[in-house]
Amino acid sequence: MDAIRSPAISDTEETLDPADWSDVRALAHRVVDDSIGYLRDVRERPVWQGMPDAVKATYDGPLPRLPTPLDDVYGQVAENLMPYPMGNIHPRFWSWYMGSSNFTGALADFLAAVQGSNLGGGNHAAASMDNQVVNWCKEMMGFPRSASGTLVSGGSMANLIALTVARNVKAGANVREDGVSAIGKPLRFYASDQVHSCHRKAMEALGLGNKALRRIPTDAKLRIDVAALRAAIAEDRAAGLQPACVIATAGTVNTGAIDDLDAMADLAAEETLWLHVDGCIGALLAISAANAHRVSGISRADSVALDPHKWLHAPFEVGCVLIRDASAHRGAFAVSQEYLESTPRGLASAEWLYEYGLQTTRGFRALKVWMALQEHGVEKFGRLIDQNIAQARYLTGLIEQEPLFQLVAPTSINIVCFRYRPEGLEEGALKALNIEIMLRLQEEGIAALSDTTVHGEHCLRVAINNHRTRRADLDLLVAETLRLGALLTR
Ligand SMILES: *Cc1c(COP(=O)(O)O)cnc(C)c1O
Repeated sequence: MDAIRSPAISDTEETLDPADWSDVRALAHRVVDDSIGYLRDVRERPVWQGMPDAVKATYDGPLPRLPTPLDDVYGQVAENLMPYPMGNIHPRFWSWYMGSSNFTGALADFLAAVQGSNLGGGNHAAASMDNQVVNWCKEMMGFPRSASGTLVSGGSMANLIALTVARNVKAGANVREDGVSAIGKPLRFYASDQVHSCHRKAMEALGLGNKALRRIPTDAKLRIDVAALRAAIAEDRAAGLQPACVIATAGTVNTGAIDDLDAMADLAAEETLWLHVDGCIGALLAISAANAHRVSGISRADSVALDPHKWLHAPFEVGCVLIRDASAHRGAFAVSQEYLESTPRGLASAEWLYEYGLQTTRGFRALKVWMALQEHGVEKFGRLIDQNIAQARYLTGLIEQEPLFQLVAPTSINIVCFRYRPEGLEEGALKALNIEIMLRLQEEGIAALSDTTVHGEHCLRVAINNHRTRRADLDLLVAETLRLGALLTR
């Protein structure tokens, strides 16, 4: 064995390992030190800044044929990459819907890469931890231990996995063998007109087509109109279609509206439909003390998609799908008989995790969730969720007090939709003005917002999914929006 532990240096064989580990040690320590400073000082930097042309040009450089010392490679990263992030780790980033990451999660991603395991499965500690994190997700959602689940790249993939299982269970045909053309009556899925675009992509990828996803109108609070849903199901049945699945959204991406999960669970039970909850935004409300009641029906779902890289602030990427009926889940993806390919002992003596999704090789996503949950405890994450919701309510109050602002949608959780609305401007001019305010806020590095349209009114959208945001940041947003609005209408 000794000869294997320290084989003679070979002239002909190469490796990616450094010739002298002490060289990389110094650099690695510097990377960690720089990273700590980077996060500590994030508030001092602009939320976003455009890249100078010289920096952009570096990304047109040719394929490197010859080596560059690692110190210099890191120097390029420090100079041309780190100063130009998307900005979602900044306290005043409220665009679209993202998490703000955390240093423990970053350390975990580093360690996961160092340890290097493939989470396709096998009998090793990383696979056990992957299972444990899925079990923790079940516990957070009030799902039974007998349910199954898998960690995936994010919410879009989590939804795709769940809708695949729903399709196969409700198809009345062997879709895996015979394809969608074997389905007798065309399947219909239902969701509100606020549904996330990933469901459209899923319907298309599943071979059912976009039209198989029927969009149901929403009420004044942007929640699915359950009576309209009931009527649509009856109408489709009468027309010879096969209603299969209702998709409830717990936290819409436009306004944070939460569909009535209990009413939808009742309806799904009456109609024997699959109930899927897209909880990419709101499922994790279940761990908060003050707001869990908003999603109390979630434990009744057949499947749930949730997104630890949003409200658990795990570094990208990690999403999770849970399926109540584990055998239906396995039945949709397994390519081997249960345990058939496993050995009685050793590395392969465990269930293969790739039997629960589309990937074969899987990254070690669990570690970043596991380490941060261990460090802080789940209650801390619940408090951070409550904090963001309280901040959104605070911002809503500021907007309601200011005559030059209009609140465009009711604030449900942590998304605030409003616009700057001086007297006498028609819709087109208002939209142009608000877009210009949004772009100036970004370009001046003050705050990152996005925009949307609610009930036909264009508005700015502030999604506070951020553990670094303080109320003072929201005060600044209000002051700067008023300043820019006045400047642009002078
Ligand atoms: C973010 C989001 C998704 C997609 O999740 P990704 O992690 O971005 O893939 C799906 N549905 C809703 C409601 C979302 O907010």
